Amino acid sequence: MKRVIATNSVEYLQFNNLSVLMGIKHAFSTRIGGVSDSVFSTMNFGFNRGDSRENVLENQRRFCEALHILPGDLVFASQTHSTVIRRVGKENLGEGIERPLLMTGYDGLATDEPGVFLATLYADCVPLFFADPIRRVVAVSHAGWRGTMSDMAGETVRFLASEFGCLPENLFLGIGPSIGRCCFEVGEDVAVQFRKLPEEIIKSAVLTHRSGFNFENRQIKSHIDLQLINKRFALKAGIKDINIENADICTSCNSDWLFSHRASKGMRGSLCAVIGLEDKV
Ligand SMILES: [Zn+2]
Repeated sequence: MKRVIATNSVEYLQFNNLSVLMGIKHAFSTRIGGVSDSVFSTMNFGFNRGDSRENVLENQRRFCEALHILPGDLVFASQTHSTVIRRVGKENLGEGIERPLLMTGYDGLATDEPGVFLATLYADCVPLFFADPIRRVVAVSHAGWRGTMSDMAGETVRFLASEFGCLPENLFLGIGPSIGRCCFEVGEDVAVQFRKLPEEIIKSAVLTHRSGFNFENRQIKSHIDLQLINKRFALKAGIKDINIENADICTSCNSDWLFSHRASKGMRGSLCAVIGLEDKV
């Protein structure tokens, strides 16, 4: 990924593989360029985190200005750690900002309509950006550990194939910043669920060790590589390795400029992933 500084001082990240595709616009926000303070400083997109609504709206305005789009061009997802994907269009513009979400229980958005910008929020979960430059379709999917484990990556590929006729081999995928294997330590309750996945998916992505010095306190802990597991599921669903870019950025290690739920013990704002097809001029 590359870091872009917009003319209004908003800083965001872009994938190299997606930014060369004509007519497709995308970005992943950072904490830099907004108006929020304290734990939300400065670019928080979450309405329900304790920040003021005015601040969030101003952050959205600045982020959209940096991308040369309008806040009213955005459509948000409800994000409930499901693997449900929803097709949206012009009729959904402004959902989640200017009007309430009309549907709940979905974590992915897809569209083939220019001018409809798909938005999802993050603070450690994995953002998955999809683009098909042939069929002119984009999607974004939110994959926390549950979504990752439930193959949100593959579900999105199959949704794009059935809904829009996208061929997996034409898809480009960007796997954005999320909590890395370095910092995503989980207990056995979570790890045991990942170990049920095929070996080809979890190989070297679930590393288990015992922590604690005293025998009595010893606990089995595992470090899980969510980015790698999403990549493996995407490959399994037919996306070409050469078309996948993994940001390889840990939000927890970089919590000074990216929001991390774990690093902040939940006192944090939310980052925003956006992708859409540009309106024809
Ligand atoms: Zn880390």
